[in-house]
Amino acid sequence: MRIITITCPACGTVVAANELEDDRVMKCPGLGCQEVLRFEDLPEDEREYFLRNRERYQI
Ligand SMILES: [Zn+2]
Repeated sequence: MRIITITCPACGTVVAANELEDDRVMKCPGLGCQEVLRFEDLPEDEREYFLRNRERYQI
């Protein structure tokens, strides 16, 4: 299974796409970082892959 991740453009913290909350927006977990990460920032092919396989990413 492919691991879809988002890299924070501000601090470089890597976040797994499945950690994004249901609204698909989350604050960067990086220490002291205020960047907001959005699912929509992922490349289109990665978004499609994630949504197609969404149930497999559920914890
Ligand atoms: Zn960050």
